[in-house]
Amino acid sequence: MTEKSSVEIFDENYAYIKEKIADAAKVSGRKPQDITLLAATKTVDVAVINHAIESGLQFIGENKVQEFLMKNDSYLPVHKHFIGHLQTNKVKDIVGKLELIQSVDSLHLAKEISKQSVKNGITTDILLEVNIGREESKSGFLCDDICENLKIIAQMDGIHIKGLMTIPPVCVNSEDNRKYFAKMNNLFVDIGAKKIDNSSMDILSMGMSDDYYTAISEGANLVRIGTALFGKRYY
Ligand SMILES: *Cc1c(COP(=O)(O)O)cnc(C)c1O
Repeated sequence: MTEKSSVEIFDENYAYIKEKIADAAKVSGRKPQDITLLAATKTVDVAVINHAIESGLQFIGENKVQEFLMKNDSYLPVHKHFIGHLQTNKVKDIVGKLELIQSVDSLHLAKEISKQSVKNGITTDILLEVNIGREESKSGFLCDDICENLKIIAQMDGIHIKGLMTIPPVCVNSEDNRKYFAKMNNLFVDIGAKKIDNSSMDILSMGMSDDYYTAISEGANLVRIGTALFGKRYY
């Protein structure tokens, strides 16, 4: 038996995941098109990514600055997001090259994005990353002070806040994270209701390969999926 190619693996997985997303959307009273599927493309060859784009994939997310810059000239037209931890000194290298930075995890980082955006005469759309599991190992804003920080960041020039993102604790069973997803959705709805100037709660980014179904059923409208689309990462 011959091994499946990366493209064949993607084709099978993509069809399956689209069905699951449509199903999860229905379960939570929404339409399939209300949910954005973003492919987490770290370590994936641009040839495979471009095949995915030709097959209809519209959103990709990279999580390393260097890898993103190396691939950036080669992607077919696609919505590009940054989803990884971003070092302040690298902001200048990517600002203006992406549609959304999902992983703004500190005031310090927001300030630098503001500074570089103003310098380039642009506005950068961002999400604020919430450390919903209060994990020491993770960066991100804590639930208790997200509101206060959001108000400060919303006033910075060159920045527009479009929602929230989270990476919940690693879990054994996808159900284990349901409580965190529910908590995130509450925050998202509460903050949205406050109608804070220069911020809009449009995007709730949560759910990855192992738990996207649960995340959508708890209100996610953008899921970031890597391995379940492209297969296991070996490096
Ligand atoms: C890699 C990555 C994902 C996707 O992870 P999978 O488990 O492979 O689906 C999602 N979000 C971020 C921030 C990532 O770095």
